[in-house]
Amino acid sequence: MTNIFHEGDADPDAIAGSTVAVVGYGNQGRSWALNLRDSGLDTRVCVRADASREQAEADGFGTFELEAAGDADVVCVLIPDDVIPSLPIKPSPTALTVVASGYTLAFDRFDPDGDVGMIAPRMLGPEVRRCYEEGVGFITAVGIHHDRTGRAQARLLALARAVGGLRQGAIEMTPRQEAVLDLAVEQALSPALTHVNNAFVQVMLEQDVPLEAIVTELILSGEVERTYGLLRKEGYAAQMEYHSPTSQYGQLSRRGAYDGLDILTTMRRLVDDIDSGRFADEWDAERDDGHQRLAALKAEHAGPAIREFEADLRRQLGEGAARA
Ligand code: NDP
Repeated sequence: MTNIFHEGDADPDAIAGSTVAVVGYGNQGRSWALNLRDSGLDTRVCVRADASREQAEADGFGTFELEAAGDADVVCVLIPDDVIPSLPIKPSPTALTVVASGYTLAFDRFDPDGDVGMIAPRMLGPEVRRCYEEGVGFITAVGIHHDRTGRAQARLLALARAVGGLRQGAIEMTPRQEAVLDLAVEQALSPALTHVNNAFVQVMLEQDVPLEAIVTELILSGEVERTYGLLRKEGYAAQMEYHSPTSQYGQLSRRGAYDGLDILTTMRRLVDDIDSGRFADEWDAERDDGHQRLAALKAEHAGPAIREFEADLRRQLGEGAARA
């Protein structure tokens, strides 16, 4: 059975009186720092001297150089994964270092002294703050990478609770499991969904359906998004009752139509690139090359022409379209 932790599983005393360094003040960093401070922890922000630092000071935090994180009892490293290995931070052998993604631990890019763990929010950075303020929290994946003091688990859960990550429950995973799952959604699932969507657009165009109508049906109407929302809140079987009988019959009678397609071979190859570390090596090389290929790919697939088409369609549909 997979462990799922809730607030009652954490003892706040495990980190009471500890100093917490939040390294980085971006999407996750700002939200974590604000949440941890509101949970009563002595929180300081370690950042480079630039806009991040100004923002942290404007939010009332004491700010320090990156190196100063080494003096804290708990070090939260909230910096892009490809940058973490180059940071000049050296946590003490009694410290607990926490990352928000399993990536650097899974692929041996980061190995600080002391206890090392992961609290990975299943939530975008700014929402981590919003969900804390709303009192609902967010789901996280938590896992220990090294327990060298015997206190890693207790401290990690206390920190996860303080950041708001136990209110809805935290699924225990190793950093490797978290990294593989996270990257596989991006690299194996997302391209498959894009391929299916593109095929659908092509077939609808062949039926003389206007492109604007297809994009609206798939995205702008919000219908697909809301259906997924119902799947999350009520489950597949319960939400089925909201579809018309024609829709129910059509969906269910054609459910196996693509079963003959060999998706698994490609998917396994993509996941093997992740599992073997080949993707991590490729991403390091891309970083060292100044992210040139990333810039070219973005220009090709999410460049000005596509932005303009999407903006124009939103204008034509009127103000309410994207809020449906
Ligand atoms: P951001 O890109 O928002 O981090 C920006 C921060 O990193 C800034 O403070 C920036 O400082 C600092 N930074 C960037 N480069 C350097 C550098 N070379 N040296 C020193 N500081 C640097 O990152 P995220 O918050 O998106 O991601 C942080 C972690 O959270 C990652 O491990 C990520 O995988 C994880 N995560 C992120 C999620 C998200 O929603 N974004 C979701 C779940 C996990 P400066 O202003 O000085 O450049």
